[in-house]
Formats: sequence, structure tokens, C-alpha cells
Amino acid sequence: MINQEYRALGSSPSIIRELFMYGLKQAEKVGPENVFDFSLGNPSIPAPDEVTDSLREILETEDPVQVHGYSSAAGFQETREAVAADLRRRFGLDTQAEEIFMTCGAAPALISVIKALTAEKGSEILVLAPFFPEYRPFIESNGAKCVVVPAFPPCFGINPAAIEPFLTAKSQAIIVNSPNNPSGAVYSEADLLALADLLRRKSAEYGHPLYIIADEPYRELVYDGTEVPFIPSLYENTVVCYSWSKSLSLPGERIGYVYVPSFAADSRDLFQAVAGAARIMGHVCPPTLIQKAVARCVRERPDLAAYDENRRLLYDALTGMGYECVKPEGAFYLFVKVPDGDAGAFSERAKTEHNLLVVPADGFGSPGWMRLAYCVSRQTIVNSLPAFRAMIEECPE
Ligand code: PLP
Repeated sequence: MINQEYRALGSSPSIIRELFMYGLKQAEKVGPENVFDFSLGNPSIPAPDEVTDSLREILETEDPVQVHGYSSAAGFQETREAVAADLRRRFGLDTQAEEIFMTCGAAPALISVIKALTAEKGSEILVLAPFFPEYRPFIESNGAKCVVVPAFPPCFGINPAAIEPFLTAKSQAIIVNSPNNPSGAVYSEADLLALADLLRRKSAEYGHPLYIIADEPYRELVYDGTEVPFIPSLYENTVVCYSWSKSLSLPGERIGYVYVPSFAADSRDLFQAVAGAARIMGHVCPPTLIQKAVARCVRERPDLAAYDENRRLLYDALTGMGYECVKPEGAFYLFVKVPDGDAGAFSERAKTEHNLLVVPADGFGSPGWMRLAYCVSRQTIVNSLPAFRAMIEECPE
């Protein structure tokens, strides 16, 4: 018998993918310069030269059998050592290779950690709106409950007092994604410390640890000197899910890791459960070549100039037209309030009348808002502005 839950997931592509596919088709009809696609968070700046140089060098100098062979399940020791050394250098904790489990990107990292923490049916994982829509199937497909904490506009930060009523004895973890997709918000150290206090108090009350799952694929994508607090330094029961998909523009290479700090509660068991979850998903020993390349490139950082220019251009232009926007501190998304509050209708009209592709944020847990991925060319933004102007002028007051 076919699993109907999976069939439903597989047969209903996300709205983001649908818009993206529509954009490709429209581009064939009307020309790519006339389609303004802000749908997909696909990096638009190339990976640093050091990554391609490393790949070339590894292929030319290392044993080809090993380069194309399996690594150990948790990844190459040299890669785990390089990641641990980089975390030690940057954040001052005593991170060791044995606490790092390499994964095929942040998504399998998240799924492994969620599986590892939801032993009982009905376990609850909290997510903070607005949130990456894939969290819901990651959580629910595992028999757990996705508990949505409403958003806190206008800045979309964290508000521990508003989170507290959503915690129960069945809660196991809260996913914290900063810099945030879709709002671009970066959570402050003060707010994260307040969250840590709340979780410590509630862990004591429930008699089991509450974990933070820190989802950090955008950690290095910040602007105006914004600092991203490292959550394991603020709250001991934190597990980090990271990938180089956005920070080194490598989403197609599928490479990331889980960091389970040794000081987290039950860290050894948790690490092994993450390994076991990865094993049953067939997601062990991520691609060897890119594991070797990231080990050489852990210190590389993206050149954010193009994203920053897009961020300023789009934010200034849209606010100038009268749109209400969150000024993004990180990631490459602009979160915009839909003038008449109906994001689905706005997105559909923008698509059919202007070839302007924007994502309604209902699936992100924030109805009435839309997400614009500004990892596009500057010219796309310039060309799209008349369409944004027409859309706001056509909107009922
Ligand atoms: N988490 C967030 C917030 C994301 O935006 C994404 C991808 O867009 C992921 C996780 C998944 O990242 P990866 O491509 O590394 O699996």
C-alpha cells in the first residue's frame, strides 16, 4: 500500500517551487528580462574561487579512489577536525571533531535532529513564525506536532513571554533560525538569553531537557556589521544545524553538519541518535569531494556586496512606494506587508498581470506578508520596480 502522507507531499510541490517553474516557462515566452522572479532562495553570487581551486587541486593531487569513495558515516576526520577548529577559533568553545556529524546540507541535519529528539508520538517541536515552511513536514512526518508560535511584527524578534504559553510537558525543542528566512531578522543576544532562562526554568519543571535546534545556513550572511550570537555559548542544550548552501553558494553540493556540543544534556546519546536517524534516511557519508573542499575552505567568506546592494535598492524603492518592509539584517530575503492583507491574491495578480513572482507568507506562518528573495541580478530589481508600483497603486486602500 502506498504511503498517502508521502504521496500528498510529493504531489503538491511547494508554492515556491511552483512559482519558480512558472517563471522558467514564462521566460521562454516573454524573455527572461521580462520575468521578475523573487521566489527561490538560490544564491546568485558564485562560490569563492578558493572552492573551485580546491576542488581542482583535490582532483589533480589526491588518490582518485579515495576522492570518489565513501567516507566514514559521520564524515572525514579531517573535515570534522577542520570544522571543529574553525568553531573553536570563532566562538571560543572547546569544540572537538567528535561533536561534528557531517550531513548532506541543513535539511537532513534538521531532520536527523528532529528524529533524534521525538522518541514518542505526539512530541512537540516549537517553531517561531515566520518560519521555513519545510519545518512542518520535517516534524509532522515523524509523528510529532509542529507548534507554531505567532510572529512578533514589526521587527520579528523573539519574545520569550509570548513563547511560554506554547510550551508543554510534551515539548522537546524549539527551532531558532537566525538570520531568519523569511524575515531577515537576526535575534539579539539579550532575547536569546531570555529564551535560555525560560527554557532552563521549563526544563526543570518538566523534568527533561528542552533543546534549541539552531538552524544556521545564513550565519555568515549579515550586513552593516550585525553580529549573530552563537547560541551554544548562551544556552547549553543547543544543537546546531549548519550548511554551506548559502554561505559559500553551494546548495547543489549538499554539504553541512550537525554540532552536538559535549556539554549539552545527554550529548553522547543524542549524537548517536542523530547518527542513527541519518543512517535510516540513507544520508550518511555526504559527498566526498565537497567534504574535502569545505575542509580547506572553512575560513572562506562570501563577498556580500551584491546582496547588500540589492537589499538597499529593493528596501529603499519599496518603502518609497509605500510598502511596509522589515529592514533585513541578514540572509537574502525582504519581508513585505501586503497592502490589502491578502498575500495569495496579491501573488497571483502579480504573477499573471506583471510576471512578478513573490511568495505569499501564509506557509511561513505569517498571513498578510510576502517574501522576496533578492538573490537576483541588480537589473532584475531595477526592471521589476514599475510592476511593484503598479501593484501597490492597484491595491484597494
Ligand atoms: N533552513 C533554512 C532556514 C533554509 O532557508 C534552508 C534552505 O533554503 C534550509 C534550512 C535547507 O538548507 P540546505 O539546502 O542546506 O538543505
